[in-house]
Amino acid sequence: MKVHEYQAKEIFKKYGIPTPKEKVCKDVTEVIAASREIGTPCVIKAQVMVGGRGKAGGIKVAKNGDEAKQYAQQILGMEIKGIPVKKVLVSEAVAITHEAYLGIIIDRTEKKTVVMACKEGGVEIEEVARKNPEAIYKVYADPLLGLMDHHARAVGLFLYDDPKKAFGCASIAQKLYKIFTHLDASLVEINPLVIDQTGQLIALDAKINFDDNGLYRHADVAAMRDRESEDANELRARECDLSYVKLDGDIGCVVNGAGLAMATMDLVKHFGGEPANFLDIGGSSSPEKVKNALDILLKDKNVKVIFFNIFGGITRCDDVANGILQAKRELNIKQPIVARLTGTNEEKAMEILKTAGLVFATTMDEGAKKALELLK
Ligand code: GDP
Ligand code: MN
Repeated sequence: MKVHEYQAKEIFKKYGIPTPKEKVCKDVTEVIAASREIGTPCVIKAQVMVGGRGKAGGIKVAKNGDEAKQYAQQILGMEIKGIPVKKVLVSEAVAITHEAYLGIIIDRTEKKTVVMACKEGGVEIEEVARKNPEAIYKVYADPLLGLMDHHARAVGLFLYDDPKKAFGCASIAQKLYKIFTHLDASLVEINPLVIDQTGQLIALDAKINFDDNGLYRHADVAAMRDRESEDANELRARECDLSYVKLDGDIGCVVNGAGLAMATMDLVKHFGGEPANFLDIGGSSSPEKVKNALDILLKDKNVKVIFFNIFGGITRCDDVANGILQAKRELNIKQPIVARLTGTNEEKAMEILKTAGLVFATTMDEGAKKALELLK
């Protein structure tokens, strides 16, 4: 789950990371009041969950109240990367003397949490990682010991020569690490971490992504979810108790079990195809769930073929078959369906689907190959 900058900054504040004085607003009237309260110059920042808002014109420095009003009108009406701006953050303008990057993610290769720092702030870190990876300083935190003081200091000393700033940064890195672990985040990022005219360190921007599987432990975080800003299809999938992630390919996959879903995607790729999605209908499934899965899958206009790969255990193949039949009747599905249904009640399933016009396969390999043939 992603949250907005203003929400991430609320969390930063709770953990003692310095942020600018600011206020979130949903209309121009609120912006005018906020700009009076905070004072001018102030910065008007679009609250959308995508990077590069600055470049897209979603961040403007207003010199006075009139400009604040004008920019608020402009930004509140715009779309950034296809997402309409519904809120802006009015933020105290900071006189920046230095910008840096500080972030924490999980390094899956090292199986550890990694703290990353870069002297170039305000730029996209993915781009730095691609073009100039040596510019990123990394320290790995031991999962049991956490981020040690000397690690945090090393990060600070990498970014700043002045010991006072370096130790200030070390303390911020420790707080960031606390947020990351306490709240089950998958990413926390300050970009840019700036130094103002008086030498203070300030988190000018904030980003936190949370691990959905940890949200049940953090009701206050879960309550921050902004439904309007999420992919409508992924949201619906969650409400239907389905795990769905849209991808860029054209073979729609419907599978039971996350492991089998991954294996199915691998197989599609192995034979030269591109999966359109990850979709796990779960361990036990009703016909209704299968119908919902197909409905969600077909909202993606790139899907040209549908590949069912079901290994019936607790999941009963006849339930899945009935779901397919129901969906075919109600959803007007034009795409060909390849079905590999094996395990519990597979004979019943075949009986149900006998006249449904599907292409059947007995093995995964065969199923993937047939789906690819149907693309051509
Ligand atoms: P992003 O483009 O979505 O990552 O948004 P940021 O919050 O990181 O802002 C982008 C850039 O706008 C920063 O790197 C700064 O250069 C600039 N900026 C944002 N707030 C201020 C501010 O208070 N003062 C000044 N001078 N620049 C700011
Ligand atoms: Mn930023």
